[in-house]
Amino acid sequence: MQREQSAQLFEEAKNYFPGGVNSPVRAFKSVSGPPLFIKRGEGCRFYDEDDNELIDFCCSWGPLILGHNNAKIRELVTETVARGTSFGTPTKLGNELGKLILDNNKFVEKIRFVSSGTEAVMSAIRLARGVTGKSKVIKFDGCYHGHVDSLLVKAGSGLATFGVSTSAGIPKSFAEETIVVPLNNPELLDKVLQEHSDDIACIIIEPIPANNGLLLQDKSFLECLRLKCYKYGVLLIFDEVISGFRVGFEGAAGHYGIQPDILTYGKIIGGGMPVGMYGASKEIMAHIAPEGAVYQAGTLSANPVAMAAGYAAMQQLLEANFYENLQAKTTYFTNKIQSYANEKGYEMTLPNIGSIFWVAFTKERITRADQIQAESMEKFKILHHELLQRGVYLGPSGYEVGFVSAAHTEADLDEAAGKMCESLDVVFS
Ligand SMILES: *Cc1c(COP(=O)(O)O)cnc(C)c1O
Repeated sequence: MQREQSAQLFEEAKNYFPGGVNSPVRAFKSVSGPPLFIKRGEGCRFYDEDDNELIDFCCSWGPLILGHNNAKIRELVTETVARGTSFGTPTKLGNELGKLILDNNKFVEKIRFVSSGTEAVMSAIRLARGVTGKSKVIKFDGCYHGHVDSLLVKAGSGLATFGVSTSAGIPKSFAEETIVVPLNNPELLDKVLQEHSDDIACIIIEPIPANNGLLLQDKSFLECLRLKCYKYGVLLIFDEVISGFRVGFEGAAGHYGIQPDILTYGKIIGGGMPVGMYGASKEIMAHIAPEGAVYQAGTLSANPVAMAAGYAAMQQLLEANFYENLQAKTTYFTNKIQSYANEKGYEMTLPNIGSIFWVAFTKERITRADQIQAESMEKFKILHHELLQRGVYLGPSGYEVGFVSAAHTEADLDEAAGKMCESLDVVFS
């Protein structure tokens, strides 16, 4: 596969943007070659500046559950943008999207639209602090919640510790507001809560952790989390920026049947435009300004073009059997590759849920971040390269999950699975 145009554009981009990109993982640092510069997408495929055609399983990192250039989204966006892009006032379209979501998601009673997942999480944390009057946050090692200062932390030495920042520019005092604990360990969590619950405002978790591999949790752990939060007077935040509208319209809360106190969304909700959202019960949301004392605002929040994209997307997600079909396709795809790998004796599995899958170079079930072997990333690097050569695109890091969209047909999945098997032959040769 030729990447001349992309290579040239990347060199040019380095003059404009740090590392040539506007979001770090796009730089292809953990795989080989320059990043692809994409110029067009249609259905499950996209096309780069060298005119390579690729079957895309990154899907813009999650938002494109309907694939690229979805006709209904494009039509409503075009119609809306013709009337202007932003008014800084409430709009009827905002109401319509709000109603559509609230009518079909019983886990939120009131919501607020923002412009990214990070903004949703940042606002949810402030809300939890405002409601409880407490300041500390518990997060889990292996969960990502956007680039919120106090959440860009990892565990220090020891099992459950005050966070150590993973980025320069974060005051130590901010990182110390966060306690980092391992996933899937109820005993340790209980110990931390016993010790610190007087200071803890909330626990935040990706109920389906999908930013550091796919670390599927025991349902019993999530249930235990819910009960412990009630017991210790701590709010539970489900960060559903990936899982929301992905494993069902009601996300992971609906999948596991667990009611958290605050939920955050992003990615899919904007139909490919920048939209985030957080929501909770009416009582909790009453703390948000102008009703309450927790300030949160946004110049472009709920801007009509983004609302139109979200509305056109949500309507399609609510069609009969949408999620069942997507799940069936994903199972079909992953089973096909898994059977081949088993036949050949390759040490790998494809953990998956809904339309999310991950390539894990181990047969072990992995539920915690520290169980992922760094060496497996070398295998992923080869896989990624071989797949690109064959016209299949995965996110450029072995810690990233893949997404199947409604636009992937069975024929597309057959083709991609075949190329996946060929590439695995190279990885394991
Ligand atoms: C992507 C993601 C975020 C951040 O969303 P942005 O729109 O990139 O700011 C937060 N939480 C989770 C779980 C995510 O997957």
